[in-house]
Amino acid sequence: MNPPAAGGPAIELLRQLIRNACVNDGTADSGYEWRSVATLTDFFGRHGTIIEPHPGRQSVIYRVPGTEPAAPTLTLLPHLDVVPVTADSWLHDPFGAEIIDGFVWGRGAVDMLNLTAAMAMVFREYLVGKRPPLPGDLVFAAVADEEAGGSLGAGNLVENHWDLVACDYLLTEVATPGFETPEGLTLPVTVAEKGPAWRTLQLTGTPGHGSQPYGTDNALVGLAEAINRLARTPSPVDISESWVRFISSIGLDDGLVSRLTDPDQVDDALDELDDPGFARWAHACTHLTIAPTLMQSGNKQNTIPDSGDAGLDVRLTPGQDETTLLDHFRKALGPALWDQIEVVPDLDFPANESIASGPLWDAIADAADAIAGSTNLVPMLTPVLTDGRFFRQRGVTVYGVGLFDDTTPFSESLGMFHGNNERVTIASVDLTTRLLALTLERFGARISDAARSAGAPGADDGA
Ligand SMILES: [Zn+2]
Repeated sequence: MNPPAAGGPAIELLRQLIRNACVNDGTADSGYEWRSVATLTDFFGRHGTIIEPHPGRQSVIYRVPGTEPAAPTLTLLPHLDVVPVTADSWLHDPFGAEIIDGFVWGRGAVDMLNLTAAMAMVFREYLVGKRPPLPGDLVFAAVADEEAGGSLGAGNLVENHWDLVACDYLLTEVATPGFETPEGLTLPVTVAEKGPAWRTLQLTGTPGHGSQPYGTDNALVGLAEAINRLARTPSPVDISESWVRFISSIGLDDGLVSRLTDPDQVDDALDELDDPGFARWAHACTHLTIAPTLMQSGNKQNTIPDSGDAGLDVRLTPGQDETTLLDHFRKALGPALWDQIEVVPDLDFPANESIASGPLWDAIADAADAIAGSTNLVPMLTPVLTDGRFFRQRGVTVYGVGLFDDTTPFSESLGMFHGNNERVTIASVDLTTRLLALTLERFGARISDAARSAGAPGADDGA
């Protein structure tokens, strides 16, 4: 069966989703995902199940029942919201969805309305019966609120409507371009994400008159020192098996690869990378990271502050935990500051990882080979949060993948996520649509084959 042609309807859908401007600024009254749910309802020509935990914050779920009740369910989980823009910094209207030189421009073009459109395009063929159903159920859940943590979207569905989205396998973000190597295309598949361990540092001091600072116990000074020490101290390294597999597969020279996979040399090796975007990403994939993002202290310009708070965005790799974090803080701050400072947890979610094997992994590999020639799939960790985490926690095997043309290299693409001038080529949306269509078809075939050879429905080898 031929994959669907994507140029027309998928691109028009993508452009409408961009124009809908479902901007999530983190407040409950933003997002407006109802607009894109209406667009999808038109696109599919029928109504899905709408869940709306707050006015306007809609997610929509559709299901195509499978042919074998015991076969595994596959869910497609795109999000509908996007992050805000600084419009003055864009070359073109961020919500105009203009097509210029083969690119569709706009907020969401790579995060992740390109995938949302491609998934909808593929799913519609099953929904309207143009393709035979898969052995297991196929679910399409387009969700709100991914960009603010998912409590009004995927988190709510998993928590309160599990019957609607329960599955064994799931496709969502993050999809990035691959790497051309002498051996062919290396295609990253997102299989894991780091865990947020957001913390507030609290420090108390003694108030006094701002005119006489000598010898005072100023909370702001202590807090600034603490932030500086955390920024200066190299953070704990975690070289995972999947990092080794990934970094060895993208065409770097062997010497650099061996340094980037050696815990004692990785920090120096990162300094040698001439692409700052790639270095930043590689650092995040191999380290506990701490980004100081908020600071609050004092209430009057002539008063020595007696308290201060610093908000830190801390992220742990799948191999790190609370002990890693506290040991590092203790070491970086030193005994005196450590004794003075309280570390208050704000948000914790464990890092999570799916196994890079099984019928969905193999189906992606089949599809990529068929479309892009011999392709090497590599598992990839993402430093960012995605909705996939809610499902991995329930034992679901979760991947993110797409296929892109060679106009935008990997690290340039990373810079477009939440950045200026976000854009994607029509050809890339077409390639991603073909990849997903063929992946679903091959997944169904592999499940059927496994069931036939086992004399029983496909076994779940989920993570
Ligand atoms: Zn996203």
